[in-house]
Amino acid sequence: GFKPASRIASIGVSKILQVGARAAAMKRDGLPVIVLGAGEPDFDTPENVKEAAKAAIDAGETKYTALDGTPALKKAIVEKFRRENGIDYDIDEVTVATGAKQILFNAFMATLDPGDEVIIPTPYWTSYSDIVEICGGVSVLIPCDAKANFRLQAEQLETAITSKTRWILLNSPSNPSGAAYSAEDYRPLLDVLIRHPHVWLMVDDMYEHIVYDDFAVATPVAIEPRLKNRTLTINGVSKAYAMTGWRIGYAGGPKALIKAMAVIQSQATSCPCSVSQAAAVEALNGPQKFLKERQESFRRRRDLVVERLNDIDGLDCRTPEGAFYTFSSCAGVLGKLTPKGRKIEADHDFTDYLLEEAHVAVVPGSAFGLSPYFRISYATSQAELMEALNRIKHACSALR
Ligand code: PLP
Repeated sequence: GFKPASRIASIGVSKILQVGARAAAMKRDGLPVIVLGAGEPDFDTPENVKEAAKAAIDAGETKYTALDGTPALKKAIVEKFRRENGIDYDIDEVTVATGAKQILFNAFMATLDPGDEVIIPTPYWTSYSDIVEICGGVSVLIPCDAKANFRLQAEQLETAITSKTRWILLNSPSNPSGAAYSAEDYRPLLDVLIRHPHVWLMVDDMYEHIVYDDFAVATPVAIEPRLKNRTLTINGVSKAYAMTGWRIGYAGGPKALIKAMAVIQSQATSCPCSVSQAAAVEALNGPQKFLKERQESFRRRRDLVVERLNDIDGLDCRTPEGAFYTFSSCAGVLGKLTPKGRKIEADHDFTDYLLEEAHVAVVPGSAFGLSPYFRISYATSQAELMEALNRIKHACSALR
């Protein structure tokens, strides 16, 4: 029979994908399921970006490109980091991959030896720990609940660091919590890292353009240049430019790390998609005004969802600074009985109940390493959100 390699033996298919698959099956059976699970914007890729891709095809840019990014895209990335983040990276300090997910993969594959530890605050994007484990590392998960505004505290970091710590991975704004670190929030953590020179910092700024209420996004290398020689600053076009399917992610970091990552990439994909790279050049160099408009649209939806959630008995939702997710506590419904007499013992019982009885698909906190919570992705229409929240409210009031 089939025997998987030990490196994936403990890893299952992502719970987020499981929820999606169940919801899709129920929809096929004709049930009116509203899916609030997807981690992608509901906007279209901007027209100028699509045009750039078509032009690239017509110009014959359909062959292998330079291993870790075309010169044009690397230049656009260098300029982006300077313009938006105030960081000076050289051309050979940036890399492009098939999504930020592959950036993470290349980086961990290139740096982790068996048993090396990666500190990951929870709740976290599930892929982080799975990629670490596939690459032979050990994820050290540190709970950061709503009381801490879902942010890692300096003392927690200090305590978690051992001689085996290779990386600490921070994500701001966060999937799934939507919480973000300001420069002030980052400061004490960066001070800890200054004292521990063997620990490298990976930061995932994927959602930096989706922030609200004039929140000032910050990124560690800009705040603390002394960490530049051991930080990988990860970003991508998927979320800001609604380009999830184009699969382009990028990062800036020390030259030696960037080179080591290219070794992995050279035997995995040879290069990112040529046409998508041309599109990403236009995304980064082209007009940026639409970002604010989209932000405003997300903000209205965030406000709607947070207000409605907090109006429901048993739920409690912190207002997120960014991304397009809410991460709401459902501690108040634990121990209750559903109308069919089933007991809600954990967040996944609650999300199962919402899917089966209210036909609303959301993801349990357990999928992100922190319970009892659940994540809503509000990157869907206001009408659908309102209907979904009505159903959630109704379902909660039916609990005894
Ligand atoms: N980082 C975070 C926090 C994400 O939520 C995602 C996608 O869901 C990614 C990175 C990966 O983005 P991509 O591989 O599409 O560039």
